[in-house]
Amino acid sequence: MVHVVGGGLSGSECALKLASFGMDVVLYEMRPGKLTGAHRTGLFAELVCSNSFKSMEITNAHGLLKKEMEMLGSFILKAAYETQVPAGKALAVDRERFSSLITRWIEENEKIRVVREEVKSLDFPGIKVIATGPLTSDGLSEELRKLFGDCLYFYDAISPIVSFESIDMSRAFFGARYGVDDSYINCPLTEEEFERFYQELIKAEEFLPHLEEDRFFEGCLPVEEIARRGKESLLFSVMKPVGLVDPKTGKMPYAVVQLRRENKEGTMWNLVGFQTRLRRKEQERVFRLIPCLRRAEFLRYGSMHRNTYINSPRVLLPTLRAKKRDDVYVVGQLCGVEGYMESTAMGLLCAVNIKRRLEGKGEVLPPEGTMLRGLIDYITEPKEDFQPMNANFGLLPPVKGRKKEKRRQLAERSISLMEEWVKNL
Ligand SMILES: Cc1cc2nc3c(=O)[nH]c(=O)nc-3n(C[C@H](O)[C@H](O)[C@H](O)COP(=O)(O)OP(=O)(O)OC[C@H]3O[C@@H](n4cnc5c(N)ncnc54)[C@H](O)[C@@H]3O)c2cc1C
Repeated sequence: MVHVVGGGLSGSECALKLASFGMDVVLYEMRPGKLTGAHRTGLFAELVCSNSFKSMEITNAHGLLKKEMEMLGSFILKAAYETQVPAGKALAVDRERFSSLITRWIEENEKIRVVREEVKSLDFPGIKVIATGPLTSDGLSEELRKLFGDCLYFYDAISPIVSFESIDMSRAFFGARYGVDDSYINCPLTEEEFERFYQELIKAEEFLPHLEEDRFFEGCLPVEEIARRGKESLLFSVMKPVGLVDPKTGKMPYAVVQLRRENKEGTMWNLVGFQTRLRRKEQERVFRLIPCLRRAEFLRYGSMHRNTYINSPRVLLPTLRAKKRDDVYVVGQLCGVEGYMESTAMGLLCAVNIKRRLEGKGEVLPPEGTMLRGLIDYITEPKEDFQPMNANFGLLPPVKGRKKEKRRQLAERSISLMEEWVKNL
């Protein structure tokens, strides 16, 4: 008997997959009796915001992730294709039909027993998969805090990440303040460029989800909020140029945006201090006014909302099993991935490993070079400042070539690796 706590995207995927392996599952879901700040129904796999699962093209990181999940037999994807609505190259669904279909599959499944209750304690026998998402109830959060110590975060302030190849390095320069080392990429702005950027930033449109926690931490303000406090606020904080000399002019720039390396290959760079609540389209429009970023490819967008997640690099094994508790797995957004499909994928992988474990076979990881493995490695390799991550090509070991060609190669490599892996599961 496996206990899956949380009937969102990752929990529904995990429960359906386990049941398809012939295992008995108890699926706990607190809705509709107790709603989160974003869910509105009692349906399983309710989509709290967009109805899009992003691109279906394999040369897009989200499309590639879907392809890999399809090869593993994802139920959530199957339901998405069955309830698809036209959205160009993206996979978008009729949200009501999508969640109703998953709900029907779960409720009609003889292997799954549904318990509509809030779980507050993990003190019961059997394997438990925690899939309670970014809006995990307070009662269970407390229990998780006991289990994982101070490794539980409640507030998410994420800066955008851009790809290295999209940064205009003919203008940007490497270096840290006061010439300590070369660890940052600096994007200089002239006074005119800064003024234009500032004017657009203060009037850009924000995304304001209706969550209870709507307050900011002073130490972690959205960049647009800092800007609204005045130009000087930006120039003395996230865009301060002091200590930096542009080698091309020999002078200190008027303003600077610093980018910090996000992975060891140096393919992903984080806009330091640019946590933001701007809508994604607005992030693209406004942040591309920074001259070195005018062609920026956003691998992850900035965001700020309540987002409970654990410090997976410290507390989880790559199999998503807790290092300290053999009977506990953590999946979905709670384990530090970001996005509908990424969350779902963790539930899917976990089900595969629980099956193998209960059959007395060893737990396994997807091969290096796949998007699934890239995500797993990112969330479980040691890191100083761990923040949730979504699918992107920066997570894969790089190949040489031009951008489009490179992506095609990465996608083909990943698909053939997955084919082999799935055959031998
Ligand atoms: C406001 C908001 C908007 C988002 N918008 C998007 C978006 O547009 N696109 C995107 O790709 N990603 C988005 N995300 C991120 C993420 O992809 C989703 O939150 C996704 O649903 C996460 O899947 P999950 O399975 O981890 O959690 P969820 O889908 O949230 O499922 C968790 C489930 O656990 C239940 N639960 C919680 N605590 C308990 C408990 N103690 N006992 C029993 N049940 C419990 C909840 O009711 C819920 O059904 C958003 C996140 C938030 C918070």
